[in-house]
Amino acid sequence: TGHGRRPLVAGNWKMNGLRKSVSVVESVRARLTPDLTDRIDVLICPPSTLIASCVAAAYGSPIAIGGQNLHAKASGAFTGSISAEMLSDLGARYVIVGHSERRAYHHETDDGVHAKALAARRAGLCGIICVGETQEEREEGRTLDIVRAQLAIGVPKGATATDTVIAYEPVWAIGTGLTPTPADIAEVHASLREMLTSLIGPEAARVRILYGGSVKPGNARELMSVENVDGALVGGASLVAEDFLGIAQAY
Ligand code: PGA
Repeated sequence: TGHGRRPLVAGNWKMNGLRKSVSVVESVRARLTPDLTDRIDVLICPPSTLIASCVAAAYGSPIAIGGQNLHAKASGAFTGSISAEMLSDLGARYVIVGHSERRAYHHETDDGVHAKALAARRAGLCGIICVGETQEEREEGRTLDIVRAQLAIGVPKGATATDTVIAYEPVWAIGTGLTPTPADIAEVHASLREMLTSLIGPEAARVRILYGGSVKPGNARELMSVENVDGALVGGASLVAEDFLGIAQAY
């Protein structure tokens, strides 16, 4: 491959999971083999209520635990919010930033994403910055314009492969069973890589760009073999240990 990017397979549990769901982390842990974790990074992002127990369940294993959202400030009068420092304090190592559900239901803007990505870096977390077009935007032929603008505003200056991962998630592919064609994904990822190079220079070659949206064990191999696809952000299938492992084993 030559680019030296280590694939990342990341699970996003969204607002799913009670205490018993920590067993998913335990089963993934029990079944991950060294030949796989020598090659890829594995991350699970449970709801905030389960971060501490998932960190404990993953302790000493190659599984990283992350948050799904954060507030940009470190602390203060922001009832109900959680800071990057709090996530880091719990043992989280990553945090998802600007997921399309946050953008759609919580009015997150690209400027807000930028502030949150900075906050993640401040606390030593790796921010997974999500971009993606809606069905309507794709039909209007605006996909590349939309995702490039989201990237240009969202990614902080001086971002590195250590503090930043990008996830391309077409909104219409999330939770629908629909996916773009490999050619469409290749086009978007190449365009994101090029935009990233203009933003942060040669470091862009080291930054992982994940694909997300209806990744399942049955399509993972095809999707993950697309050029410039450096892993997956997995929603629904990450709630079932054997499905999540099936996706990881695409590598
Ligand atoms: P999905 O969700 O895999 O259930 O489509 C992906 C995501 O929203 O990250």
